[in-house]
Amino acid sequence: MRHPSENPLIEISPFVSDGGQLIGRDPRDIPAEDYMDRPFLIGLEAIRAKCLDCAFDPKEVRKCVQTDCPLWPLRMGRVPKGYRNAAVRAKTLGNPSAATTLAEQFEAEQNPDDEAENDAERAI
Ligand code: SF4
Repeated sequence: MRHPSENPLIEISPFVSDGGQLIGRDPRDIPAEDYMDRPFLIGLEAIRAKCLDCAFDPKEVRKCVQTDCPLWPLRMGRVPKGYRNAAVRAKTLGNPSAATTLAEQFEAEQNPDDEAENDAERAI
């Protein structure tokens, strides 16, 4: 692992509450050139990569018992038919606590409420 000062994805926190610590930059503000030496993974590929990083071995990912992990149903890098159907069924039945459909999740990724995470902290 290289020194944080050489990592363009890390910055000195602009937030008073962090006391000058190094923090990850907001990915929404990082230009393309700063991502160039990273693998470009999104969605299910990124989930699969995270599970391999977590469990170290494809066989261990397959056997993962952490069923409360949000990534667990998607750890094989696919949206399982039963999982997708369960989400659709729960929505049809009007279950407000059920998982949202995939389409709704993509909408949520662009939710302006995300901005509140940063705005809640006062910048230096
Ligand atoms: S589903 Fe299992 S392997 Fe994947 S990130 Fe969660 S705990 Fe790790």
